[in-house]
Amino acid sequence: MTKQSRISNPEMYRRKLIELLDDFENHLENSELRIKVLELVPAVHLFQKLGVSLIDPSNEHSARFRILAYMRKYVGIVISGEELSVVAGISEYARRVRELRVEHGWPILTGVALKSMEMEELEALNIPVDLKLRPDQYILLGDKQDMEAAYRWHVANDIRKEPISVRNKILKYFRTFVGKEISGEELSYVAGNKTEWARRTRELRTEYGWPILTKFTGRPDLLVGIYVLEEDRQSPEHDRRIPEGEYRKVLLRDQYTCQDCGWTHKKWNRSDPRHLEVHHVRRHVDKGANTADNLITLCTICHDIRHSHYST
Ligand SMILES: [Zn+2]
Ligand SMILES: [Zn+2]
Repeated sequence: MTKQSRISNPEMYRRKLIELLDDFENHLENSELRIKVLELVPAVHLFQKLGVSLIDPSNEHSARFRILAYMRKYVGIVISGEELSVVAGISEYARRVRELRVEHGWPILTGVALKSMEMEELEALNIPVDLKLRPDQYILLGDKQDMEAAYRWHVANDIRKEPISVRNKILKYFRTFVGKEISGEELSYVAGNKTEWARRTRELRTEYGWPILTKFTGRPDLLVGIYVLEEDRQSPEHDRRIPEGEYRKVLLRDQYTCQDCGWTHKKWNRSDPRHLEVHHVRRHVDKGANTADNLITLCTICHDIRHSHYST
């Protein structure tokens, strides 16, 4: 070995490996089992070093970033976990891939995620609908890190650790990202993977009057499983606690349109943010029923106007 050879020179590892395997011929014939195994241990290390040294050594000293460097060279191509284990030099590559995806916002498609995706999602991401991936196969969909996804993960991680109730964790997360599309996967994470997240989210909308909208509750344009806190305001006390079924029925009947001014979510814009709410025509206190025939869809502006006519 020459002095100039770099620590991570693949050729150096290749030669050492061959030397070692040459020696192994003797052991194979003459040595007992334990000796054979012990002789192969350095070969395992050399093989790992050889794999690791294939990636440009200047900046890739962690397994996670070697995986990333490799995937970025082959955007859009199916990569197997075995390849990643060669360049990473470790066997638990799956955890690193998850970190890259969730914590660092790299758009890596996994076999598991692909299975749970709806047709519309596949189309939106330009993924062929007949694509199949094994659980240990991955595709980097684009060579661009989603900084916001990475930021959101860090916020989610902070909130998840706070000593507050699951409902308040979810509310806090929504209020940090008003108007943004939030997935059930994120909410489940914020809730500390407690299955109650879905029920708590629904309560925030129905009992607490937060405009957390879904495909079925005012935002037919959203994908299934996506939630948006439309505005940072709660609906009037008297319009809360409408049963979920009635709420959906009213929106559907009114075709997701304000019955006073004709506003729909298609007209939404930043300078005039509104959303749809369901209002009691005859108030509870005046014996108004909590059923569809006493309920009406209004935009938040028209809703405020109707309420301003009440004395309370
Ligand atoms: Zn209106
Ligand atoms: Zn109302």
